[in-house]
Amino acid sequence: MIDFEYHHPTSLDEVFGLLDQHGEDARVLAGGTALVIQMKQRLLQPSHVVGLRRVSGLNTIESTADGVRIGALCTQRQIENSPVIRDELPLLAATFRKVATPRIRNMATVGGGLVNGDPNQDPPPSLIALGASAVLNSKSGDRVVPLEDFFIDYYETDVQQGEVLTSVLVPRAPAGSGSVYLKFLPRTADDYGTVSVAAVVSKEQDGSCKDVRIVLGSAGVTPIRATGAEDALRGKPLTDENIRAAASLVKDAVDPLDDFRGSAEYKTDMAVVFARRALEQAMAAIPSNPSGSARV
Ligand SMILES: Cc1cc2nc3c(=O)[nH]c(=O)nc-3n(C[C@H](O)[C@H](O)[C@H](O)COP(=O)(O)OP(=O)(O)OC[C@H]3O[C@@H](n4cnc5c(N)ncnc54)[C@H](O)[C@@H]3O)c2cc1C
Repeated sequence: MIDFEYHHPTSLDEVFGLLDQHGEDARVLAGGTALVIQMKQRLLQPSHVVGLRRVSGLNTIESTADGVRIGALCTQRQIENSPVIRDELPLLAATFRKVATPRIRNMATVGGGLVNGDPNQDPPPSLIALGASAVLNSKSGDRVVPLEDFFIDYYETDVQQGEVLTSVLVPRAPAGSGSVYLKFLPRTADDYGTVSVAAVVSKEQDGSCKDVRIVLGSAGVTPIRATGAEDALRGKPLTDENIRAAASLVKDAVDPLDDFRGSAEYKTDMAVVFARRALEQAMAAIPSNPSGSARV
């Protein structure tokens, strides 16, 4: 392990001051499940590590008029078990339950996972499918970035020097919608997905597709929204044939990496298969009572 100085500020102002003072030599630490490994592997060698754990107010979950505000320091386990999340955003509770093992989920945080920018992670597809945004704070102010625009490249996000992700704003899925997150795990139950798909579907009274969002993980250098497939389904009857045709367009959106979980070609084929299954399962989860809330 490299030598570094550990700071444990108790306020965001102190965090901003340390990030300002030490610039690119500083990194914030949340759960440490990614950063510590990257430091041990000498992929990152910060001289100053700024722990966020003692900063109060960053680990709360709050139901608001527009949705749910999730503090960046909430652990993944907190999301999985929160009664507010289970009730208002069941897709998220189900998605976080699929991350690795309880041991990891007890340490890893919502914000740390997002800023890490690993395209194989589970939460980003579901968060993007729900239309979530990241709140970034710095000493020069705040900005809100839709998660759809947050991931720039492999392990690269829109977070700028001096910024801290403080919360994630997640709108509730529209009434009368169904949603699902599928993770293809051919190896072990605690692995990253070979591909993964989040889908949120709502339908009109005549049974046609009112709106749909399809977002894939492990299918490129960032999470990928399959807008071509969405456009092909929106407004159309939700028949097997139309779902199959829309899912087949996912192959034009993805650009997976070859790795030990499968070749790019195999992952592309699996992305189509899992997109179809996700659409079918999301559609089946639409409540029969049209004003009912989304269920997974
Ligand atoms: C064995 C193992 C298995 C795993 N399996 C899965 C899996 O199946 N699915 C999955 O989705 N993930 C998996 N993960 C990844 C895990 O989800 C991430 O490591 C975790 O989400 C990172 O969160 P953290 O709080 O530990 O971040 P940290 O390690 O503390 O930080 C990660 C990065 O984010 C930055 N950062 C952290 N918080 C903030 C903030 N609030 N503002 C600005 N920057 C910040 C840090 O500087 C660092 O660059 C696995 C990890 C391990 C170790």
